[in-house]
Amino acid sequence: MGNPLPQDTLEAIIAASLATSEAAERLTELCDGIGGRPAGSEAGRRAEEWALETLRRQGLAAWTEPLPLLHWDRGPLDLRVDGPLGWPLDSVAHAYSPLAVDLSAELVDVGHGRAVDFAAAGEAVRGRIALCDEEVPAGERNPHRSERLAAAVTRGAAGLLILSSAAGGITRTGVCHRGLAPIPSLSVSREDGLRLRRLLARGGRPRLRLSMQNRAEPSEGRNVLADLPGRDPEAGLVLAGAHLDSWDLAQGAADNGLGSVIVLEIARVLGQLHASLAEERRPGATLRFALWTAEEIGLLGSTAYQRREAEAGGLARHRAVLNFDMTGNPEGYWLPGQAGAGATLAGLARQLAPLGMGPAVDHRAGLHSDHQAFMLAGVPVVALLAPLGPDGGRYYHSRGDTLDKIDLPALCRAVAVGAATLWALADETEPSLPWLSSEAVASMVDAAGLREALTALG
Ligand SMILES: [Zn+2]
Repeated sequence: MGNPLPQDTLEAIIAASLATSEAAERLTELCDGIGGRPAGSEAGRRAEEWALETLRRQGLAAWTEPLPLLHWDRGPLDLRVDGPLGWPLDSVAHAYSPLAVDLSAELVDVGHGRAVDFAAAGEAVRGRIALCDEEVPAGERNPHRSERLAAAVTRGAAGLLILSSAAGGITRTGVCHRGLAPIPSLSVSREDGLRLRRLLARGGRPRLRLSMQNRAEPSEGRNVLADLPGRDPEAGLVLAGAHLDSWDLAQGAADNGLGSVIVLEIARVLGQLHASLAEERRPGATLRFALWTAEEIGLLGSTAYQRREAEAGGLARHRAVLNFDMTGNPEGYWLPGQAGAGATLAGLARQLAPLGMGPAVDHRAGLHSDHQAFMLAGVPVVALLAPLGPDGGRYYHSRGDTLDKIDLPALCRAVAVGAATLWALADETEPSLPWLSSEAVASMVDAAGLREALTALG
């Protein structure tokens, strides 16, 4: 089997991604210069401007697509165990918790917080604050926090407290509801949560007092898009996207400064290559770059784009959508619902072996990132199997998601692999990754046990 990329193209991509990388500058501008950037906040607007300017400076035709949204902003929070021996709990609110809360309630332990755990606790949940783990036993599907909140609301809970999986006072935010939630939902540190659990197990009846004030206002986020036009207007496009928004607690370095910088760097690397080649050596399909808004609050930006394209008849032009979210060290491809890797990506993985890519391909579907709307519509989705390293999951959505945790060589390799992948897919005469029929999408969702999660998300 031949190589999908000519040797000089591959070398140009690797040199621009590694030797003359601008990834460190871009990530520092985003993480230290702008910082946490929830969609609809002032920092969110600054980040969108920065992405637009970066793409234009690199010579690409870039534009924005606005999206109205409700921006939620955290205010003062106090959660404590009541009584003379009471103590303040280390906690943060999940986004879209109610705006004003003043509550005193007993606790109930609902184990892992799965539907079966809430069912087993039954009426004991009513009027109490439900305490549950963030994780489930190995091998089981972990319900999203929105599913845990939905179960707590159904059972009449006064609030939900999710016990952090990471030791050392790490608490995590995240979204748990579309729009303002009916009850408060918080993350509590592992140490405080385990103490509460031990007190309950010994027959204690700790009563919690919770007060918090938050704000919410109508605002706007913007998707930032840019194109490198293909040789053949009939050949459609291949899109590389990542969400630019992050949580407010830290700098959003891993989630998702990594993906944002990968997409901007791919645009720079392939923009240079595009400009250096004669017309006939450029890919047939257009290369499109997308920095999505409002992923963290419900995949809003990518979903709005997908719907608009579907309504305008443009979705069928998408040969493939690449998504970069918390992308670490590239090792293989994630191709949900596809039967194999296809000749192009299998050959490319061999060509990219010196960068660490291997033949591993994962076909199992997953949710909760910007590929979701495209995957459910049948568009071929591509991501990298790219772990973040041993501490990767530890700082997820916490105050610890900062620039100092980032592995720069892995980031540069991900840029090279992502750029090579985008270029090779856009250069195919016939697309090697087929669209999925609605039946194939349904069986992919069922095979991964995701039907319940999709229902909970509406
Ligand atoms: Zn993310």
